[in-house]
Formats: sequence, structure tokens, C-alpha cells
Amino acid sequence: MSPRGAQDTAVQRGRARQYALCTIAVGYDRVSDGVEGVFDQALTNGLAAIVAHTWPGNEIEGQRVRSAAGLLEVVKAKGESREPGVWHVPHEPADQEHGPTLLEARQTGDVTPVRVEVLHTAIKATQAIRHARDTGQHTGAVLTADHVDALEELDWHPALRTVMDELQGRHEAAVPAADRAERRRATEYLFLLGDEEVQRRAAIDYASLHRPHHKDDETTVEDCPVCDNLSLVAENHDGLLAEIGIGQCVICSYQRTAEAASAQAQTLQIRRAMDRPG
Ligand SMILES: [Zn+2]
Repeated sequence: MSPRGAQDTAVQRGRARQYALCTIAVGYDRVSDGVEGVFDQALTNGLAAIVAHTWPGNEIEGQRVRSAAGLLEVVKAKGESREPGVWHVPHEPADQEHGPTLLEARQTGDVTPVRVEVLHTAIKATQAIRHARDTGQHTGAVLTADHVDALEELDWHPALRTVMDELQGRHEAAVPAADRAERRRATEYLFLLGDEEVQRRAAIDYASLHRPHHKDDETTVEDCPVCDNLSLVAENHDGLLAEIGIGQCVICSYQRTAEAASAQAQTLQIRRAMDRPG
């Protein structure tokens, strides 16, 4: 391999690794401060790897790698839209002699659907969150589960998939999936409770009710990631950072398991190790 080719491979692998680490981190926690920067890193690196693999050179504009929004424009211009808001990227260059054409790739299922419109709204949300934090204003913008799903779906592309597999063994992948299912269950329960009952429960001061009773009592009351109240009563914490509570929310019934807490602590460590942009 030429030095140039080897360098390109290293760059692509670096992008895939950044995408995988950041995507796993966002999958665990899409509400904490700074998550908008992690989401941007995941999306920019993932899209740059996909575009560079499929349409080499198009990931660059001038001397720089395009922004996530710019890379989505490339996907829109060169991919094929077969359903509203979604563009398909073939897995090998469509214009090369030996690579499959877009049509062939599609017939064999070798395409990665990119939910361009959903990802555009995610970019707008991260910009609004960052702006609000910088100016001390409030914003209604949030990263939704749909945004995170669209980010995770990019992993289907071979430029990313192998690295994601390496970082996330089968068992590890099962933990965030189970935690997401648990959050969905608690969200449905929350709807069933209705506003009035949720407000009645939210008015209770759980931090006072669940104060530690003796010196070895580690009980804390934390923000619940599902209902956003100070109501997750944790009797234990993760073994790595001792910061992520293991316990249950008194309002929405969300239960954070020891495995989910431990996985979340690992990704929190990754996030702290990364430069926070902006
Ligand atoms: Zn809750």
C-alpha cells in the first residue's frame, strides 16, 4: 500500500473509532450537558467516513473536512432517495468499473439508508442547545431518541461497522438495548399516570425523604433521565466512578440496573477524556 493509501486508511479508522465511541456514549445519555458536542463528533466522523469510502474526495471542501450538514448535502446529491427524507448510500463506489452500480447494490441490500431530514433536525437541536448554554438562555431543543436512532443506523455502513463491532461486544450491546427498553417502558407508564398525578408526585421532596440513615448508607437522590425529576433513589453506585446511581425513580418507575450504571460510567469516562468543543 502506498504511504498515501496507508495514511488514508489510518484516517478512516480514526473516524470510525470516533464515531463508535461517541455514538455509544450518546446512546447511553442524550440529556447531560455537553452531549451536543459528542453527538456532533459522532455524526461528523461517521458521515465523513461514509462519504470518503463511497465517494472519495467529496468529504473535503477546500482544505477542510465538511461539516455534518455539508456531508449530508453530499449524501443528498449523490445518494438516492427512495422514501421521504431518507437517502441510500451504496456500499461501494457506484462509478467504479468493478464496484457494483447503485442499482446492483440496492438489489443485494448493500446500501445504508441515511435519514437525512432527521439528522438535519438533530444538527439544529445541537446548535440551539450550544447557543443556549453559551448565552445562558433556555431552549426547548433536545436530542430525541429518534435522532440517536438515526445516528446509530449509520453503523450499517462497512466503513463503520467493523469498528463498532470491535468496541461493542454482543453482551455490551445488549445492555444499552435493555436500558432503552426500560426507558420506553417507564415513559409509557408516565403517560398512563397523567399530568395531575405526575405533578403531585413531582412536588414531593424525595431528597429529604431518602436521606442516608447511617454513615455507610450511600443513598442519594438523582435526576431521573426519563421524567427529569429529582426522584431517582439510588442505594448503590457504579464501581468505576461511583457517580452513576443504581436504583429506581419514585415517579416514573424507571429502574437503572448495575450493568446499565457501569456501562454509563464507562462512557462518561470516555466523554471526559475527549475535548469538549465549543
Ligand atoms: Zn423518573
